[in-house]
Amino acid sequence: MAEPVFRRLALIGLGLIGSSIARINLDGRPLAGEVIACARTPKTLARVVELGIADRVEADPARAVAGCDGVILCAPVGSFADLAAAIGPHLHPGAILSDVGSTKQSVIRDVGPHVPAGVHFIPGHPLAGTEYSGPDAGFAALFTGRWTLLTPPEGADPAAVERMAEFWRRCGAMVETMEPGHHDRVLAIVSHLPHLIAFTICGTADDLADESRSQVLKFAASGFRDFTRIAASDPVMWRDVFLNNREALLEMLARFMEDAQAMARAVRWADAAYIEDKVERGRKIRRSLIELKQA
Ligand code: NAP
Repeated sequence: MAEPVFRRLALIGLGLIGSSIARINLDGRPLAGEVIACARTPKTLARVVELGIADRVEADPARAVAGCDGVILCAPVGSFADLAAAIGPHLHPGAILSDVGSTKQSVIRDVGPHVPAGVHFIPGHPLAGTEYSGPDAGFAALFTGRWTLLTPPEGADPAAVERMAEFWRRCGAMVETMEPGHHDRVLAIVSHLPHLIAFTICGTADDLADESRSQVLKFAASGFRDFTRIAASDPVMWRDVFLNNREALLEMLARFMEDAQAMARAVRWADAAYIEDKVERGRKIRRSLIELKQA
């Protein structure tokens, strides 16, 4: 069997993403010789012990990273600044510090200043997820066939970048490196804006009178259902994503609202060709996604 990528790995946060990584390690794809799990609440730590997906649990992040050659932050991005301040002085020279956060410029801003010299900081983001959260939500196939984007800072050690790439390949992912600002703009359109729209449309439906709301739920299969699945995601995680990718999200939202206005105008003036063209474009995008096996 291949050598594990890390001798001892600390996962800070054992929700959907962290617990999926921990499960992969038990699944015959050696990521780490030893996995230390750290979460905030005793309830999550106790559940991780019950599930048997880590070698040891630690409530204190500073103690969790002691003696680790790999540390991955798997908590909501809004907690990263405090976490990095807590673990920074305890990171070992030569260790890799990475993360799975959905925003990348904010992570570099919040974590970067706390990374001691000699520690390799290689931020990452697996583009895989579900609407479920917590340690029971994870599963070993989560990253299979999905992309992970690495956003190494300028001057990052190529060997450390390759080690994280190998880590994600063992998780079943395809890996690409990207500039952090570009990552945040791409993710704003493919992930953050669709979530914002889903949360908003569910709120709009919920604001309707009681009677029509029950009608909405009764006939939800007509399309609303798909929005409710996305809107079932974790509130803290998404609050943090929106607040930490503000600029790109607002830019994409402004463009979306312009396009939605154009569609509204086409509907008002019965511009059939415009409407048909936009629907056809949507179908094409869906077909391309299926061909790329990302549907
Ligand atoms: P999750 O299921 O809600 O789990 C979050 C975990 O972080 C929990 O174990 C929580 O511990 C822990 N945590 C929260 N604050 C903490 C703190 N201050 N110190 C230590 N642990 C803390 O979240 P997730 O979906 O796995 O998301 C984790 C990260 O992955 C986020 O940064 C998110 O942006 C990113 N991500 C998510 C998805 C997705 O679709 N869900 C996809 C890609 C990337 P307790 O349970 O004890 O509170």
